[in-house]
Amino acid sequence: MGKGQMQSIHLVTHRGPGALLNTTNATAIIAGLDDWHYVPGDAHPIDEPRLTMRLRRHCKAPALTLRALPHSTQKYGARTKVTAWQFPEWFLVQNTEAHKLGRRLVHISQLDDGNFHDHRTNKKQKVLPVHFVQACVSGHIDDINWRSFVHHKASECTHDLWMDEGMDEGMDEGGTNSTVRCECGAQRTLSASTVFGRCSGRQPWLGDDEHATCTNRSRLLLRDAAHAYFPQTLTVITIPDVSDPLDKIMHAHWDTIFQFVETHAEIAKARQKRVVSRLLQPFSEESILAAVAHRREINTRDIQPLKHVEFDAFVSACVDGAANGAADGAANEVMLMVRELPREQWADMAWMSVLRRAMLVHRLREVTALLGFTRFEATAPDEQGELPANAPRSALSREQNWLPAHENYSEGIFLEFDPNAVRAENGATYAQLSALARLLIAEIAVKCDCAEADLKERIYAHEASGRFGVLIYGAADAAGTLVAAGRALLCNENPRLLSPEIFIP
Ligand SMILES: [Zn+2]
Ligand SMILES: [Zn+2]
Repeated sequence: MGKGQMQSIHLVTHRGPGALLNTTNATAIIAGLDDWHYVPGDAHPIDEPRLTMRLRRHCKAPALTLRALPHSTQKYGARTKVTAWQFPEWFLVQNTEAHKLGRRLVHISQLDDGNFHDHRTNKKQKVLPVHFVQACVSGHIDDINWRSFVHHKASECTHDLWMDEGMDEGMDEGGTNSTVRCECGAQRTLSASTVFGRCSGRQPWLGDDEHATCTNRSRLLLRDAAHAYFPQTLTVITIPDVSDPLDKIMHAHWDTIFQFVETHAEIAKARQKRVVSRLLQPFSEESILAAVAHRREINTRDIQPLKHVEFDAFVSACVDGAANGAADGAANEVMLMVRELPREQWADMAWMSVLRRAMLVHRLREVTALLGFTRFEATAPDEQGELPANAPRSALSREQNWLPAHENYSEGIFLEFDPNAVRAENGATYAQLSALARLLIAEIAVKCDCAEADLKERIYAHEASGRFGVLIYGAADAAGTLVAAGRALLCNENPRLLSPEIFIP
């Protein structure tokens, strides 16, 4: 099998395991995580408990962790490698002499060193991978069994196969006028409505003989179609727990030890565990029990929809300028820092009448994890930021013990809307807040002299609980500029007169 390598953040956004790579003369499928070879020290774990908890539930993998993508800053020496396997395994021979039957369709087993050796002419001929494969919505993908296809049933016929490959407009929808012919006389035309029967469940990105049980119908797929790969991701804004050293111990050993602790006798048992006995020494029974209860409460809160918890954290900032959020002791990094921009500093502009509060987000951390993928149809998180339970997807690895994730440290502004005002004026819906966010992004992009594509929005709209908000933040590191631009927007100031530094706490 051919191997290639690539590294980039795009692995999370559109080219994770199972994605098809198409270059001019080779095609491949990105291998599953089992075949990503990290160099020692490059496998940085990402700690995001709220996200990890959900991913474990969605993937039914209780020990799942998050890992940063391999990044290739190293110029020399060993580098983490992302593997890609050759796929598909059928090729069209690029014979120059026009043939009435089209081009010869050959299997990889008929190739010699990547070329087709034509015994009739005794010439080596170049081949290109066939455009058509079959796949199902869950992400399984397979070669079309061309012999069965052309003969309309499983066939022992061993005559040569040919393809008259025609490309139509609207190929993404599977439109084609290609005809496959067997030298025995059988022939069949490929179309979007071609029925391939039940999905084989093949998962070539996981290995040669990896198959899942699948009841989906298999469909024609053009390997470079836009719908050939939809990454399934989940994103959270990190909400740090204001935690003491004891809570950190609880958190680190919750699943294995402390979730079972309720009595003094159980604490005594926990103290005997080698991993925590030294750590627990300075703490009394009462303080440990209190910490267990606190952690249990946090875990319950984490069952709330992702965006509810985030919204509540954003609006809990104080007016006096004191920032909420806490420094995470382990990483010694501030994960979230929010300050309210007092109302008396706002400019008097019509669109602000629906605002309740405006927050300057000096620091935030966004984590996006890739859970799996689908083909033909995307499954995106819903308006509350959650993926539907039992959403279809293909797994990224055989083991499912870790998932790739990406951290974005950024800054921005958060606007809270008055539920009564938005309901009365617009009947605020998710779509309307999105539209407003796009307008604000256009304004802010001008004010901080960046591209609109460098800015992102996250919409909070929950009718029943009256949570309405818009977060606008940088898609990548944007130190110092976005808070200034957000403030300039709200205060109608000319940002060019402002030094960004004065807004950094
Ligand atoms: Zn035949
Ligand atoms: Zn399938």
